[in-house]
Amino acid sequence: MKRTLLKKLLDTVVQTEMNKTYPRVTIDLKKLRNNIDRTVEKCQAQGVHVAGIIKGCTGIPACVKEFDESQCKFIGSSRLEQLRDLHSQGVKKPLMLIRIPMMSELSDVIAITDISLNSEVETLKALNEEATKQGRFHRVILMVDLGDLREGFWDKTQLVETAKLVEKELASLELLGIGTNLGCYGSISATKEKMEELIACAEKIEGEIGRKLEYISGGGTTSLPRIFDEDMPERINLLRIGEGILLAKDLKDLWNYNMDYAYQNVFTVEAEIIEVKEKPSYPVGEILFDAFGNVQEYEDRGVRKRALLALGKVDYAFLDSIHPLDEAMEVIGASSDHTILDIENCQRNYKVGDVVQFNVSYAALVYVTNSPNVKIVTV
Ligand SMILES: *Cc1c(COP(=O)(O)O)cnc(C)c1O
Repeated sequence: MKRTLLKKLLDTVVQTEMNKTYPRVTIDLKKLRNNIDRTVEKCQAQGVHVAGIIKGCTGIPACVKEFDESQCKFIGSSRLEQLRDLHSQGVKKPLMLIRIPMMSELSDVIAITDISLNSEVETLKALNEEATKQGRFHRVILMVDLGDLREGFWDKTQLVETAKLVEKELASLELLGIGTNLGCYGSISATKEKMEELIACAEKIEGEIGRKLEYISGGGTTSLPRIFDEDMPERINLLRIGEGILLAKDLKDLWNYNMDYAYQNVFTVEAEIIEVKEKPSYPVGEILFDAFGNVQEYEDRGVRKRALLALGKVDYAFLDSIHPLDEAMEVIGASSDHTILDIENCQRNYKVGDVVQFNVSYAALVYVTNSPNVKIVTV
């Protein structure tokens, strides 16, 4: 009896999920593949391999498949759960964990991934022990902090000592190379000088261990300018690219690089209008706090035509991270499950049931691809 009821309930859940059409994110896989291929070509022309980073789209399997069938060298994510099933789903490329492993996840790190980025001696020792226990071999890239102040060895002597330790004493680990990350916390630019500083660290290690390191990884998307400007120092031979492939927006919008070789609309978010009304633009009554406890400012623009969408901050988090394709449309506010659009100046006569399309920035992409409320559709 109980079992039938549970099954019935589960069926209902699955049914509802299947019938749900909006909100959704549509992913154009051909465009994604173009972005991967063009990026890899540009990097390879300068002797740089690409690790395709899938965390920006929450490791959606259809997207990962495009990376796997491309000329990317590795597939990487900061989160093990996005890498867990890839090999069993047929993904061939070596998998890279790009966040410093947690002590509590080391057995999974060894079982699931081929390579990890590291910056702690204790973690490396424990990783070695775990690899030995599982009878596996694991490759590591030691991270160097060149001033962006997130992960990585700050003390260069400690870096070299740790490299020696991995090379000579941690038998189940292989020192694959070193790497750095820039333009994340400290907003530090990946200049030619920073790249050369990284190479100098590598050469110091090479002098100590008596062999060349296979990889020197100069960063992520924020290091692509060195490829575009064709001044990437020769020994940098690996970049770990996510945003520059998935969205290809930041370097265009923030740095004015010509990104015409890539599509900026691989991902399109669609949501349905549930109300269209003319309303005042200034709230009526005593103003206190909004849905998130913030004090808001409202501009009185008189009575305006507005549309209410069945899509909210829970789905994309940041109001300035979604961009309507209809440029006459203005995103004026949102709560958890609603977004309010000013459509006064739109040519199109929007009605209830109409669907509105958006481009997204990185922050919103992470949310929409990770929201159980948002259906994922690939074309
Ligand atoms: C997220 C991340 C990347 C990729 O960053 P993008 O800006 O998306 O290219 C590369 N390396 C590390 C360590 C990361 O955490």
